[in-house]
Order: sequence, then C-alpha cells, then structure tokens
Amino acid sequence: MRQAGRGILCVCMLVSFLICGCGSTQASTASAAPDPEANERSTVYVDSMDTFIELSAFGSNRTAALQAAKEEILRLNDLLSIGLADSEISRVNQSGSGVVSKDTAAMIREALNLYDQTGGAFDLTVYPLMELWGFVSKEYHVPTEKELAETMTRIGADRVVLDDGSGLVTLGEGQAIDLGGIAKGFASQRLMDIFREHGVESAIVSLGGNMQCLGSKPDGSPWRIGVKDPFNPDFGLSAIVRIVDKAVITSGGYERFFIDEATGTTYRHIIDPATGYPAESGLSSVSIVTADGMLGDGLSTALYIMGLEKAADFWRAHRDEFDAILIDNDGNVYVTAGIEDTVTSEHEIHVLR
Ligand code: ADP
Ligand code: MG
Repeated sequence: MRQAGRGILCVCMLVSFLICGCGSTQASTASAAPDPEANERSTVYVDSMDTFIELSAFGSNRTAALQAAKEEILRLNDLLSIGLADSEISRVNQSGSGVVSKDTAAMIREALNLYDQTGGAFDLTVYPLMELWGFVSKEYHVPTEKELAETMTRIGADRVVLDDGSGLVTLGEGQAIDLGGIAKGFASQRLMDIFREHGVESAIVSLGGNMQCLGSKPDGSPWRIGVKDPFNPDFGLSAIVRIVDKAVITSGGYERFFIDEATGTTYRHIIDPATGYPAESGLSSVSIVTADGMLGDGLSTALYIMGLEKAADFWRAHRDEFDAILIDNDGNVYVTAGIEDTVTSEHEIHVLR
C-alpha cells in the first residue's frame, strides 16, 4: 500500500512566508510606554503532539513567553499521547476508567458536547476504527465487513461518562478514546493565554498547519493565513484569510491517507463514525475560523464528515460561534458570510448565507 506523509516542512515555509514581513513596520503609537522591541520577533520549533509546531511571538517579553509555551506543549503531550503508555488517556484506555486532570477533563467534556452538537460526527471513541484501518500503526488495512461490524460495537461517545467534579472518566465495554481531533486546538488556545499572561500582545502559532494568533501583526494589520490547496497542499493556496485574535483550523483529507492498490481507492484519516469508513462527503478540506481554537479543531473534523449541505446548515445554526472555508472535491471554494470580506482567492468564491 502506498502512503502519504504530511509535507510538514513545506507547510511551515508557506506559513512563515505569509506571516513574515512585519519587521520594518511601525509600532503602535497608542500605548503610553511603547515597547522598544514591539517589532522584534522570535520563533521556536517543537516536535510534539505528533506534529511539527512553530511558535512566534513579538515584543520584549517574547523569550520567556515562548519558553513557557513550549513547556506547556510538552506537558499536554504527556497527558494526552496515545503513544505514551502512562499518559492519562492511555491509562483510561487500558483500564476502561480513571481519574484525569482538569485539562484532560475539559477536553473530554468539550468532545462530548461536540458529539451531541454534531449529531455524532465528532466522536472521541473512533480510536478502535483508527487502529483497525491502520492509521495508528501506519500498517494500512482495508477491513473485512466482519472486522468492521465487530469494531462498530465499540463506537459511540454516548457510552463515555465524565464526572466533572472528580474527573472520573468511564468508558463503555471495549472502548478507547482519542483526543487527536481537538488536542491541538486546545493547545493553541492555551498558548494564547500564556502569551497574554507574559505581556505579549502579538503572536502566532502553527500546530501542524492549525493556526492561531494573538492580536494583530505588530503594525496593527491582520495576520494573513493561507488555506492550502487540497490538490497541491505542499505548494498551492486555495485562499487567504485575514484574521485578528482568531484561529484558522483545517481538516484536510490530504493530510494522512493511503491508497488500496487492489482497488485504487483512497482512504483518509477522518473516520465517519456512522459507517466506520473514512469520510467521503464530497469535501476535500474544511477550515474553521473562530476565536475558540478547540471548538475550531473539533468542528473542522465534524464539518468535513458532514459534507457541504449539512455543514452549511450547521453553520447557519451556529453562525455566532464560527465561520468556515470549505473546498469540495472539484476545487470549488465556499465561504460563510461572516468572513466574506476577509477572504481572497484566485478561484470564484461561493458565499454561504
Ligand atoms: P489533523 O489531526 O490531521 O489536524 P483533524 O483535526 O481533522 O486532523 O483530526 C483528525 C484526527 O482526529 C484523527 O487523526 C483522529 O485521531 C481523530 N478523528 C478521526 N475521525 C474522528 C471523528 N469522527 N471524531 C473525532 N475524532 C476523529
Ligand atoms: Mg480537528
């Protein structure tokens, strides 16, 4: 079977290209005591959370802030990683229950809320399906109907119980949970808090291409974030969105997939919990634009599974919470009305209202 990597270096170069160009601009004049280093930028790189992470912050407090940010990422990875036998998640998966820390409980609570809100499209119990299809071991495998039916009996977040007071999590029989669908969004949201606590006013982070920014660029202009062309993800952009104090979180079928050589079928790493199969909804990428990184991460996965029509309806019911850029399998670009003025594209933009 053939497999595809993530094109991480190219992505980062692309992202850097878009966010650079602030060095020679003027600092804000509104502040009483302007920061003499307001335009100075530092960047750190972290290989964690199963991805490549790039953190950039501006201003005289940037070094300490970036150090604290890096430490927080490593701490969250130790809590959540499925690959670490003694992470909180691994311990719950091994014994079927366990008490977790406040942060892990907050993510599980958000995952359970998303399960309810998205009609089960976002389901933190899909992990046994990820294993069955080989997305965990990278030994890819198209399951038999029998294997699929057996595994489907273990799927369903409605059987996960979290006691918010004690942090006790209890799974249903044979279940295993994975916060991979929201962990990076939780982390980027947390990094914004850390930057703020350190007095940083301008920062931008990329966690495997999931972007979140604090404030605007030091010159007061918005950050420009590229949405990768799902058909040429290493080099092409389908759109650029301008944001201030927001996250742009993308789920793309091109991120991780394999091709079954027997049939030529491509299978992608986002699983539709309703069928047990990798989602084939007609969408090739969904980017969520929102002030809440964790919500954006969960919704990018869920709307990708829903497909264009259902995703548009979902947005209409929650239009105060997020906006979205959706690209279908034919390359058509759809943008929700809340951000139509901030998105540019070489393609025709179809506005969803
Ligand atoms: P990426 O991790 O590539 O940024 P996503 O945010 O879309 O992409 O998350 C995909 C990850 O979420 C998968 O690798 C898997 O761990 C998990 N996942 C897959 N399908 C679902 C689903 N239906 N609900 C919740 N999590 C899922
Ligand atoms: Mg996601």
